[in-house]
Amino acid sequence: MARESKGQTTMRDNLFDDSSVGVYLHLPFCDRICPYCDFAVVPARPLEAAVEARYLEGLQAELTARRSDFQGRSLATLYFGGGTPSIFRPESIRTLVEAVREAFPARRTDETETTLELNPSTLEEARLPEFREAGVNRLSIGIQSFDDDQLKRLGRAHRAPVARSTLSAARAAGFENLSIDLIFAGPGQNTTELGRDLDELLEWSPEHVSTYELTFEPETPFGKALAAGKMEACEEDRAADMIEQIESRLEGAGFERYEISSYARPGRRSNHNARYWQRQAVLGLGLGAHSMEARSEDRPHGARRANPRSLERWHAAVAANPSTVGEIESLSVETARGEAVFLALRQREGLNALRFEAEFGEPPRAFFGPEIRSAVDRGWLLEGAAGDLQLTAEGRLLADSVAAEFVAAEGNRSVGN
Ligand code: SF4
Repeated sequence: MARESKGQTTMRDNLFDDSSVGVYLHLPFCDRICPYCDFAVVPARPLEAAVEARYLEGLQAELTARRSDFQGRSLATLYFGGGTPSIFRPESIRTLVEAVREAFPARRTDETETTLELNPSTLEEARLPEFREAGVNRLSIGIQSFDDDQLKRLGRAHRAPVARSTLSAARAAGFENLSIDLIFAGPGQNTTELGRDLDELLEWSPEHVSTYELTFEPETPFGKALAAGKMEACEEDRAADMIEQIESRLEGAGFERYEISSYARPGRRSNHNARYWQRQAVLGLGLGAHSMEARSEDRPHGARRANPRSLERWHAAVAANPSTVGEIESLSVETARGEAVFLALRQREGLNALRFEAEFGEPPRAFFGPEIRSAVDRGWLLEGAAGDLQLTAEGRLLADSVAAEFVAAEGNRSVGN
C-alpha cells in the first residue's frame, strides 16, 4: 500500500468532486465533404430547414434525457463542433445555448467559454453578429491555409480571400477570442509555403492556433489515393522540420505550445479541449459525439459513451430512448492508467506524479519503470525528482510513439490478467 499524505487525500477527494461539466454538441452537416475528412459528417448543400429542425429536436431530446446523469454540475464550457456548425441558423444556435444553460446553470454565463466551429464563407460571415448575440464568445475557424493552390489540393471549398474576409468579419462582430486551424504537410507543401502561411496567420493575431499534420485515414478519398499510389504522404523528416518551424515561429510571436497541436496566447488556452486531456466530465450530444461520463464509486475511472455515426441510426436511437443513445465502455484501471499518461504527456505540464498516485495508488514508476527508463535514456522524456514526467523537445516530435509505449504496456498487463 502506498504512503498517503494529506495532500494526496485531498487530491483523491477532488478526483471525485469535480462539480462541473463541459457540453459538446455535434452538428454534422457540411456544404461539401473534404477528401481527407474522417469525422462524423453528412453532406448538406444547402442545409434544408426541415433537416435542421429535426436534428435540433433530436439534440434537445437527448439533452433533456441525459442531463440527470450530470445533475447538479455547473456548465464550464460549451462547444459546437462538426461538421460545420455555422451552417445552422443563429436562432438554432441560440436555442441550443439557452437549453444547455438551463440544464446546467453556470456560475457566470458571460464567462462560460462558448465555442462555435466556423468555416470561411460569405454566408457564415454574415451571420457572425447573430452568433455573438446568441451567446457564442469564441470561434474556431477552419482556415487551414492562406494559399489558394494548397486549399485546392486539400479539396477545401473556400479560397484565401474568403478566409480573410471571414477573419475581418469575426473581429468586426466583436469576437475577441479567435482560434485558427492550420493544416501542414499537405500535398506538395514545402517549408517556404508553410512559412508564408505562418506569416499571414500571425498578421491576423489570433488568440489560439490549432495545427494539424495532414493524415491519410484509410476510408477517405485521400487514404484510398495513397494506398493506390496516386498520392504521396509528406516524408517524416520534412514533417518534423515543419513541426519545429511552427513551434519556433509561434513561440517567437508569444504563443505557448501548451499541447502537442495547440498554441495559445497567455490566458487563451481552450478550456473545453483541456477537459478531454484532463479526463474531466463531458456530455457529448448528437451524431458521433463522445461523452466522458462522470466518475462515481461504481466507475472510479469514468466511462466513455460513443453515439452512432450514422444520421438515421442516431435519429432512431433518440426516438427509441434518448437516455440510452450510444455505447458505454466503463474504463478499466489499466485503460485509465494508459490514457492518463498518454493524455498528460501531450500537455506542456506533463504528468503530475502526485495526482497520478492519488488516482492509481502508486507513482508512475511503479507501473511504467521500463518505459520511463527507456524514454529517458533515449532523450525523449524528463523525469523530475518527484516523479513528474514531461516530453523533451525531441520527445514532442515523437509524442504519439512515446505515449503508445505506455498504452501498450497497459495493454499487455490487461491481456496478462
Ligand atoms: S469542413 Fe471540416 S468537418 Fe466538414 S468535411 Fe471538411 S474537414 Fe470534415
